[in-house]
Amino acid sequence: MYNVKSKIATEFIDNEEILETLEYAKKNKNNRQLINEILEKAKECKGISHREAAVLLECELEDENEKMYKLAKEIKQRFYGNRIVMFAPLYLSNYCVNGCTYCPYHHKNKHITRKKLTQEEIEKEVIALQDMGHKRLALETGEDPVNNPIEYVLESIKTIYSIKHKNGAIRRANVNIAATTVENYRRLKDAGIGTYILFQETYHKKTYEELHPTGPKHDYAYHTEAMDRAMEGGIDDVGLGVLYGLNMYRYDFVGLLMHAEHLEAAMGVGPHTISVPRIRPADDINPDEFTNAISDEIFAKIVAVLRITVPYTGLIVSTRESQKTREKVLELGVSQISGGSSTSVGGYVEKEKEEENSAQFDVNDTRTLDEIVNWLLEKGHIPSFCTACYREGRTGDRFMQLVKSGQIANCCQPNALMTLKEYLEDYASEDTRRKGEEVIKNEIPRIPNEKVKKIVLENLENLHEGKRDFRF
Ligand code: SF4
Repeated sequence: MYNVKSKIATEFIDNEEILETLEYAKKNKNNRQLINEILEKAKECKGISHREAAVLLECELEDENEKMYKLAKEIKQRFYGNRIVMFAPLYLSNYCVNGCTYCPYHHKNKHITRKKLTQEEIEKEVIALQDMGHKRLALETGEDPVNNPIEYVLESIKTIYSIKHKNGAIRRANVNIAATTVENYRRLKDAGIGTYILFQETYHKKTYEELHPTGPKHDYAYHTEAMDRAMEGGIDDVGLGVLYGLNMYRYDFVGLLMHAEHLEAAMGVGPHTISVPRIRPADDINPDEFTNAISDEIFAKIVAVLRITVPYTGLIVSTRESQKTREKVLELGVSQISGGSSTSVGGYVEKEKEEENSAQFDVNDTRTLDEIVNWLLEKGHIPSFCTACYREGRTGDRFMQLVKSGQIANCCQPNALMTLKEYLEDYASEDTRRKGEEVIKNEIPRIPNEKVKKIVLENLENLHEGKRDFRF
């Protein structure tokens, strides 16, 4: 029985409710009146329900789809302005005891080189990331209580935050590790993590169990209820995602939104971010064997409808996607992207040798961070290295209040300009610096608040003179 507030996975992700929703969406895919009503509601920027979102995803009316794309872009602009937040993944260890059939880290894969970074190696990786200009990381490990216990993750976080190379610093470490206990989530919170990220992979229970035949991840309920435990442990920013290509995308799309509704109803705060990864080639993984792969068109539509449905949630696209796809979805509501990424353990210091194979997936967008910053500037975005909210205590419902009232744009844009300036001063190539300075010059008059504008101008001067780390 569907119950959005239930603490039981199969009740807040109720199979019947998903199937009925999909049926309802199919029946109404050409219902112009209903689609228009949903779009009118969406224009209020307060979000729409999973049923309404499913109808939009299914809609076959071209003109209505065009309206959807336009609205998705408007909503992104309204809440977050032109800024695109940058981050990079940092793979700490690829030891894993699970048997996930779509991931090269699965423990039966004998031709992958197993690696776990020591604290000295982490230090070197972080210096390499700082030297690129990164300020925000997403830490990744496989699940292995012996090789990657929680103590290892906590020690690594401490190391990461302690390193200050030249003007560099990692100011926000998000963490993507396996589902764990309330107590361990509390320890992660105390270690000062940003967002706790855990992808569901698929919400379809039977498929989930088949894709995770062995290891602790096999337990659907324990995995699906992890975000509730994380929030009980005091983590108030959590990141959701499904791996598109594993199951029917429509089913997972609805399940994801029901999960978001559940967190809001049961825990008082919806997801801070949603990621939209698609399955990619990797060692021992051939995406062609996963017959539910989605086209670029459907991928773009998923992004647009997500943006309309959860306007307060950051949308993340990684380097799994090509430059072309990223360019498209940046126009449809994506608000964070990774850049200059390495998906192998230790890959920032030393590029992996062909035979080593420690990567989790093949990167599609292989450009350097500077090339990506340059490209974003050219396309009219402001690449942002901001980490201010979490450091100012604007997390969980405090953050959501700020977004819901539209106030966040007053922080995001000035912070984007100041952190971009920092990047330009310390790391940018000549051409990127020139383009960046131009964008900053053009954006300053758009700061609505005169007092804020004055402070930004002063801080830009301070940054030029060598001072660092300003924020609102
Ligand atoms: S002001 Fe807050 S929401 Fe905006 S970019 Fe910075 S950290 Fe993110």
